[in-house]
Amino acid sequence: MTKKYTYLFREGNEHMRELLGGKGANLAEMSNLGMPVPYGFTITTEACTQYYQDNECINDEIKAQIFEYLDKLEAQSGKKLGDTNNPLLVSVRSGARASMPGMMDTILNLGMNDTVVETVAKLTDNPRFAYDSYRRFVQMYSDVVMGLNKSRFEKIIDDVKATRGIESDLDLTADDMKELVVRFKQFYNEQLHTDFPQDPKEQLMGAIEAVFRSWNNERAIYYRRMNNIPSSWGTAVNVQMMVFGNMGNDCGTGVAFTRNPSTGEKKLYGEFLMNAQGEDVVAGIRTPQTIDHLKEVAPQAYDKFLEICDTLEKHYRNMQDMEFTIEKGQLFMLQTRNGKRTAQAALKIATDMVDEGAITTDEALMMVEPQQLDSLLHPMFDPDALKAATPITTGLPASPGAGSGEIVFSAEEAIQAKEEGRKVILVRLETSPEDIEGMSASEAILTVRGGMTSHAAVVARGMGACCVAGCSAIEMHEEEGYFVVNGQRFNRGDVISVDGSTGNVYGQAIKSVPAAITGDFERFMEWADQRRTLQVRTNADTPRDAKQAYEFGAQGIGLTRTEHMFFEGDRIKAMREMIVSKTTEQRRAALAKIEPMQRKDFEGLYEAMQGQPVTIRYLDPPLHEFLPKTDEEIAELADEMKMPKEELDAVIANLHEFNPMLGHRGVRLAITFPEIAEMQTLAVITAAINVQNRHPEWNIEPEIMIPLVGSVHELKFVKNIVSKTADKLIKDSNVDMKYHVGTMIEIPRAALLADEIAQEAEFFSFGTNDLTQMTFGFSRDDAGSFLSDYYDDNIFDSDPFAHLDTKGVGKLIQIAAQGGRKTRPDIKLGICGEHGGDPASIDFCQQVGLNYVSCSPYRVPIARLAAAQAAI
Ligand code: ADP
Ligand code: MG
Ligand code: MG
Repeated sequence: MTKKYTYLFREGNEHMRELLGGKGANLAEMSNLGMPVPYGFTITTEACTQYYQDNECINDEIKAQIFEYLDKLEAQSGKKLGDTNNPLLVSVRSGARASMPGMMDTILNLGMNDTVVETVAKLTDNPRFAYDSYRRFVQMYSDVVMGLNKSRFEKIIDDVKATRGIESDLDLTADDMKELVVRFKQFYNEQLHTDFPQDPKEQLMGAIEAVFRSWNNERAIYYRRMNNIPSSWGTAVNVQMMVFGNMGNDCGTGVAFTRNPSTGEKKLYGEFLMNAQGEDVVAGIRTPQTIDHLKEVAPQAYDKFLEICDTLEKHYRNMQDMEFTIEKGQLFMLQTRNGKRTAQAALKIATDMVDEGAITTDEALMMVEPQQLDSLLHPMFDPDALKAATPITTGLPASPGAGSGEIVFSAEEAIQAKEEGRKVILVRLETSPEDIEGMSASEAILTVRGGMTSHAAVVARGMGACCVAGCSAIEMHEEEGYFVVNGQRFNRGDVISVDGSTGNVYGQAIKSVPAAITGDFERFMEWADQRRTLQVRTNADTPRDAKQAYEFGAQGIGLTRTEHMFFEGDRIKAMREMIVSKTTEQRRAALAKIEPMQRKDFEGLYEAMQGQPVTIRYLDPPLHEFLPKTDEEIAELADEMKMPKEELDAVIANLHEFNPMLGHRGVRLAITFPEIAEMQTLAVITAAINVQNRHPEWNIEPEIMIPLVGSVHELKFVKNIVSKTADKLIKDSNVDMKYHVGTMIEIPRAALLADEIAQEAEFFSFGTNDLTQMTFGFSRDDAGSFLSDYYDDNIFDSDPFAHLDTKGVGKLIQIAAQGGRKTRPDIKLGICGEHGGDPASIDFCQQVGLNYVSCSPYRVPIARLAAAQAAI
């Protein structure tokens, strides 16, 4: 049987997203709910993947099905593509499984040509409309299919407007539109040396292919990488009969959300424009009206729309984001999807809907993207500092948050600045999809034009970035590198502050304060905690980090990197002394200086965690990382150690390694220098005893973790040193203290022989940074430079250091978990690599049955929610 590549809307439903894409599945669902949706059909995502398999060619089988379904669409609508009596016009719309707003392309009014336009003019008795639609089509087709930038056509429009002495597109007459068509087609011919295609079927195939191709345009690839969407999915294509919002003043087009996407308030929220088409509302060319005004201009359509909104929200059990068009007073639905929203709004909507009895707490938990919580955990403007400051102007509060930084005017500048570690505010007339990378590199986005549903607003909310839009008091002079607001001039590089919650813009830096988990957020997180089975710990090296993590709900420390404290202040000196020591005695003397510092640090950690488990990892990095680098530094150290500089030079040269990551580090250090492990045990156990004595109500059981073990014999050797030291300390102190020795699993050999290693290890912690590096055989410090080519060529979808490679690295984790449990059924299993805070990786950890994930403090709430979702 041949594969089915095409579906009429009435053949599909909401559960067919994989095949029909989100847009197609929801158009189908709305059609079947009896809502007014213009007829159409969907070409499946499988057709798109097949297109790529066939070397970017739509094969005959798919082509035949497209034309068969075009026939069906013509029968449904009673119109025919290219017909001189009753022509059908269609839109060709992209629609992937996961919504990727604005990332791919859409073409409207397809089917227009020199004769059809005449017919449409006659039939509608509205030549202006007919030629407006035609010129829009030429513009979109040229842009999307042929790659001629839209802005070059806008120049022609500006030109015509200037000669006619008018400002608004609305003042263009039928003749002007006609002239635009002529000039557009002329421009097309000049640029491409061929005439604008007149055959509607050729137009249709060109448009479909262009939508397939747009799956792999730069911004779509970037968006996929940011959102961890596989490149293998492909996009579906929707071919849909046009309805017209640009036929006159009883027509219009708009977008709306069933609740406020910025605050979550339960109130219909949206914008529309009368006598307009498609993207006019979001393009920021004319300023749209808010949705309540629709009641006055198109009362019937408005009432119908309210009813549909209500039905859709109940049906999807989620806040909806909808697109509609009104043709001659009649409402048509063109899209619905679960609306993107700010983190703040997401929490309010989730808790409100539970209170309304509309959804369960499980549904509420699934409704919020864990990553999104991040934006609530970062500092907000200090209320007192805010009160003391006067805004220079106010725009629309498009996406909440607080940002201070230097003014930049382009995405490139923002990206550059981020690389240099500078904080910037991206100020633009309006943003376009090309700006997305620059937007994410900025502290905040400030636009002059556009409403709450403009590109900047939608994308910023999606990324959790702070954004103020439509700040029309700003006069831009971006080419000269400044803007003016109320007579005051701000230059590129000047610092301003942007408050996305109020829309205020300040001409200065403003102090910010840390965030706290309260209100809706707190309630929501309690639901998450009740639901999850995975524990969430934190990676913390300092008491400050540990305290922060504890406030964010961490249930212990999964990883303390003991060496990190040694880069600070004077401590590095003692460390260097230890490293360059020539005899064991010298080394012991240096270690003796270090021990009290470590002990104090550890006490701080135990105190911060209030009796919860703390895993301390022993010294891990190659020693030379601690050594002085410059000649002056070396001379200074030599002086201090009363050592000839040449001798120190020689020691340092000796420590040089070609591959330090695969060199003398981790457990290998403790094997050559057992006194290091002795000192660290002394510090850990003494700290634990001291804190236990101070807090008898706590039950402290130190967890000692040996890094980079590849063989059980290594672990056994070091564990012996640890036990000897620890047992004696505990005995001498007369406290009854248990402690545990475990290992990291970060070398593939350890994963493969985990059953053996578990004979000595009481717990495993998967160090997935090293494990990923060693499994792939590329260095995590160098991979960035070549992995970008992997993404561009779709060899990798995402960074394996950010999202766990569940296939390869995951297999090793599985083997290790099984092996460990075989030998020691109650072995404790955790993960402490960066992946411990990544929702997709956490889902995998749940599947493998780990006991806990450990992540950086700011990811703890994200992990708590991701763990709950993994358990649902
Ligand atoms: P995107 O995914 O970028 O939102 P869409 O495919 O939704 O792109 O198309 C953008 C806009 O084009 C829609 O919001 C709608 O206003 C307009 N549009 C698409 N198809 C039609 C149609 N059949 N009739 C009228 N307008 C349409
Ligand atoms: Mg679009
Ligand atoms: Mg859309």
